[in-house]
Amino acid sequence: MTPMALSSVVMKFGGTSVQNSEMIREVVGIIKKYRAKQQTIVVVSAMSKVTDGLVNTAHDVVAGTAKEAEIRDFVNELKERHRITVEEVILKKYRAPVLIEIERLLGELEKVLTGISYVGELTPRSLDFVMSFGERLSAPIVSGAINSAGIKSRWFSGFEAGIVTDSNFGKAAPIPDLTEEKIKKVLGPARDMIPVVTGFVAGDMKGRITTLGRGGSDYSAAIIGSVLDVDEIWIWTDVDGILTTDPRIVKNASIIKVISYAEAMELAYFGAKVLHPKTIEPAMEKGIPVRVLNTFKPEKEGTMIVKKQNEISDVVKAISVTKNVVLLTISGAGMIGVPGVAARVFGALARKNVNILMISQGSSEVNISIVIEKGDLKKAVQTIKQEFEGMNIIKDVHYVKNIAVVAVIGAGMQGTKGVAARVFTSVAEAGVNVLMIAQGSSEVNISFIIHERDVKKAVNALHNEFVE
Ligand code: ASP
Ligand code: MG
Repeated sequence: MTPMALSSVVMKFGGTSVQNSEMIREVVGIIKKYRAKQQTIVVVSAMSKVTDGLVNTAHDVVAGTAKEAEIRDFVNELKERHRITVEEVILKKYRAPVLIEIERLLGELEKVLTGISYVGELTPRSLDFVMSFGERLSAPIVSGAINSAGIKSRWFSGFEAGIVTDSNFGKAAPIPDLTEEKIKKVLGPARDMIPVVTGFVAGDMKGRITTLGRGGSDYSAAIIGSVLDVDEIWIWTDVDGILTTDPRIVKNASIIKVISYAEAMELAYFGAKVLHPKTIEPAMEKGIPVRVLNTFKPEKEGTMIVKKQNEISDVVKAISVTKNVVLLTISGAGMIGVPGVAARVFGALARKNVNILMISQGSSEVNISIVIEKGDLKKAVQTIKQEFEGMNIIKDVHYVKNIAVVAVIGAGMQGTKGVAARVFTSVAEAGVNVLMIAQGSSEVNISFIIHERDVKKAVNALHNEFVE
């Protein structure tokens, strides 16, 4: 990216961007080159694979497959990796506090994991606590590396920085007023140093550690950027930007230069893994541009996410594919004219935490079709059967596996006639059968279900028709 003179910016660096000393040096270089005039805030993920390791170990510990020795090995490996990185990126005179913090954290982690093994139970609260160690270990190192480059820096946990959430462990949501007040107090007005904040990690009103959901560091950056009303929020990751589609499916997939909030939100929702789906909302509230940039190739322009594009030339921006889903159809003539059947289906599924991706009901009312994640299938079928047990409403619940949701996304579809016709003509001409269709009323996306085996044909046809 070309350096620019912003007055304030939040930069978030993902797990691969801080995976080792070489990359942390890159990160420091980027901060030096691109930092803003008044205020730069850095948000970091855990070093790559650390969060996965924490989650897996916690599960192994409750399952009894990891005992004292395995816990110790795991903690020692983490210690080695972080300690070596400290020695490679932090000047001697800045090392001590960081090494002390790492030592303290890992001592605590070992105790917590041992505690979990004794109790034999992993609550969402203790899992959040365990998962928080990744970012709490990486932030001090990045901060120390910035200090070593001659720029003053301090590290903060997300909670210390001011992100106060509800107590919905595993997927906590910030409490807006409290968070705003606290972030402003701690991080603003601009200080004479660069704060390095742990992404993903926050705390509830009782000060207990919470997390914002896997991949949530992007969201942390957006929350902070929005409260401080910074000029831009930058998500530094390991790809060149947001792609028009999955390059494993379409060879000519390309980087989207500019995309609107609405489009980016649809894309994140429909499985583009680049951004955490909640990232856009806080930025959108204040109209702050979000850029997706590549730490490995900082000279690239990346993708810029903005309120509205001046000129929308392309009707369709991107085509996303979500696999590992199932189409569940609930049918029975008993549903006809009986109010509230759909409400009861959705209510029952929601209580069991089944995530619904798409819904469709024909006006004949003989069936309701929903798309859910594959992993939820058994639970969903059971739940629905239980809900209507002994009633003559639902005759059958059946499902189709090996399907995929294809979403065609673009704000230019709004008010443009004939897009749906073009979409389904291309798909039909590719010889692909469509099982279900939905269009959001925002008109930013048309999504439909096809068999997984048809994905390549359908998506290539669409990409060719609209994007290339
Ligand atoms: N470290 C967390 C995760 O792996 C959060 C993040 O990287 O955004 O999910
Ligand atoms: Mg991520």
